[in-house]
Amino acid sequence: MEKAEGIVIKTINYGETNKIITVFTKEHGKVGLMARGAKKTKSRLSAASQLLFFGQFLYQKSKGLGTLYQGETIEPLRNIKADIFKMAYAAYIVEVIDKLTEQNVRNPFLYDLLIRILTYIEEGVDPEVLTLIFDVKMMGPAGIEARFDGCVHCGEETGPFSFSVDRGGYLCKRCAHTDEHALPMSAAAARLLRLFKHIDISRLGKINLKPETVKEMKRIMTVYYDQYSGLHLKSKRFLDQMASFEQK
Ligand SMILES: [Zn+2]
Repeated sequence: MEKAEGIVIKTINYGETNKIITVFTKEHGKVGLMARGAKKTKSRLSAASQLLFFGQFLYQKSKGLGTLYQGETIEPLRNIKADIFKMAYAAYIVEVIDKLTEQNVRNPFLYDLLIRILTYIEEGVDPEVLTLIFDVKMMGPAGIEARFDGCVHCGEETGPFSFSVDRGGYLCKRCAHTDEHALPMSAAAARLLRLFKHIDISRLGKINLKPETVKEMKRIMTVYYDQYSGLHLKSKRFLDQMASFEQK
């Protein structure tokens, strides 16, 4: 029998009464588990097999799917689950984690990032900004790291910069001509993207950003991820629809 701390990042109904859940665990990375009878309302596994259940799991390991025996809550994440907007951001974050991780590969960095970001959302920190920080931090694990430290062409560290999706990073004024499709970028956005890449998420202070700066960074990250990540996420489409709904 195995015991692990983790969070449910995906659930699929299986047959009339069962569920297959994917748990991202601290100790063993991503684990697939069969939760027998979990769809029955009185099942003791019904809570533990919900998306974003964060707790201690007791399960039987197996070559393929393991078997879930018990889940004990660590933090119920009530605020996230009660708010469709927070929930949509959290769903996006766990879907990205699911898509970019392998089964049974321990990854303490990603686990810590996931738990901290969800905890901040739960505590009321702006989920849009947190998701942006998450996207910047995930470029490494996704194997699509962009250069935010200076011009990709000449190394110049002083702005103003534009952002070249094609070249994967900033371009200074002098080198801007090397990519005519480079996206314009304010000094604030350039500084913040660099900060997000290097900031220790556990030391995140109060964040108070102008909406237009957030919008600018989001645009850059969206175009960049669309170009390189190969991710096509249901949760991302929903987030985008929600954002356009909010604007109206
Ligand atoms: Zn340059």
